[in-house]
Amino acid sequence: MQTIADSLHCAQNLIAQSLNNANRPANAVKLLAVSKTKPVSDLRAAYIAGQRLFGENYVQEGVSKIEALQDLKDIEWHFIGPLQSNKTRLVAEHFDWVHSVDRLKIAGRLSDQRPHYKGPMNVCIQVNIDDEESKSGVSADEVGALADAVSSCVNLRLRGLMTIPNASQNNTQLDQSFQRMATLFTDLKGQYSTIDTLSMGMSGDLDQAISAGSTMVRLGTAIFGART
Ligand SMILES: *Cc1c(COP(=O)(O)O)cnc(C)c1O
Repeated sequence: MQTIADSLHCAQNLIAQSLNNANRPANAVKLLAVSKTKPVSDLRAAYIAGQRLFGENYVQEGVSKIEALQDLKDIEWHFIGPLQSNKTRLVAEHFDWVHSVDRLKIAGRLSDQRPHYKGPMNVCIQVNIDDEESKSGVSADEVGALADAVSSCVNLRLRGLMTIPNASQNNTQLDQSFQRMATLFTDLKGQYSTIDTLSMGMSGDLDQAISAGSTMVRLGTAIFGART
């Protein structure tokens, strides 16, 4: 049976290969282990195998896991799911990053509710790059205004952009979506010195995301197996 450690090493190799194919430096992409729905024992197994960045989608589930793994001091916790305003406080108090900021109200609350001892919250703006009805995120032409607002929130640090492209596109369309994100990212980098993160690529499309310039891939299935 393939262990979590095996899957993790396999994922690291895939990332290294994609970087190499794209002529990008070997350390240009970080691996976020998306552990939603998986038990704390799986997260511990990944930690023992060297994984330090974990992503969770649901506030309550994420906070319980953070509390259960408090003995592991150097985990970096990323909130990547949709965020409602009545849940921002828990996220502000427990997580290190939020990838899914898509409106000013959420940004303002995260900043107001961030405990000072935690330091600034790292924020990516979620972009609905394929303008899907069902998906959260701002449209490409709203990125500038929200970035402006986030960057003026004192307890937030604007780190970059996140996207979940339309999964039913063909490879050419998917490449185009990733390319549009890369352009938005480059533009933003020119405006804010804190920008270093383009969060895109999941288990099914990491190679394409990396060749387009992703700096952080979010892998769930590839590390922990299918979710039930
Ligand atoms: C679940 C999820 C992932 C991981 O998806 P896999 O296909 O299992 O790798 C990545 N990003 C977000 C926002 C998710 O919700």
